[in-house]
Amino acid sequence: MIMPDKTLFEIITVPCLSDNYAYIVKSPDGVAIIDAPEAAPIIAALDARGWEADTLLITHHHHDHHGGTRALRDRYKLKVFGPRAEADRLPDLDVAVDPGFESGSGVGRYQVLHVPGHTLGHIAYYYPEASALFSADSLMVMGCGRLFEGTAAQMWNTLDMLLNLPDETQIYSGHEYTASNMRFALSVDPDNTTLQTRAAEVEALRAKGQPTVPARLDLEKKTNPFLRASLAEMKRALGMVDATDAQVFAELRRRKDTF
Ligand code: ZN
Ligand code: FE
Repeated sequence: MIMPDKTLFEIITVPCLSDNYAYIVKSPDGVAIIDAPEAAPIIAALDARGWEADTLLITHHHHDHHGGTRALRDRYKLKVFGPRAEADRLPDLDVAVDPGFESGSGVGRYQVLHVPGHTLGHIAYYYPEASALFSADSLMVMGCGRLFEGTAAQMWNTLDMLLNLPDETQIYSGHEYTASNMRFALSVDPDNTTLQTRAAEVEALRAKGQPTVPARLDLEKKTNPFLRASLAEMKRALGMVDATDAQVFAELRRRKDTF
């Protein structure tokens, strides 16, 4: 049993490109970067703290998550990890990892989770000791990634698996899409009072230009419609009382695509 000890970690959110996020995880084991949309803001964030990067962990093959890899490699002696299933589309990979891979031992250890749906080989990096999940374009704050490669059933299985993580898990997703996700959530779940309260908080954060990441999983469970596809109240709201959870998820995803 791994006990969380957040005091050992520092996690920095780095806005990149127009709406991407990279993250820097500093642990006593070293410094990891999660995703590299572009190098410059990540290097600036490291420089400001006097840190060097040891590892880059890539979540999936879309260019807005690894386009800065080459430049980071030129700058630091770092090892680049990414999903083996997408290795042919990740040109600068040093270590191809499979779901279930666990890094190191003790502090700074992370686990690789398979989170298909957005892409088929998409992985997430879960740090149990930091209570942190780097989910990129699988589970997103108040939303989930579009189904570019996988099926709705695959993404639902992914979300259903992530629902089993501890409630205090912080979700660090790959983009700042929360405001539009929230408007969609309110459209399908208008009577949810927790959602209404959260909507006001999200608007206040965005008005100040602040990130809405990370978000705690227990709050996501109450307000992210895609995590609520199995609930009777959601099925009723969509007029799908007899549908399976995956069918309800598919309908939510379909509606969001044209929202
Ligand atoms: Zn993507
Ligand atoms: Fe993306």
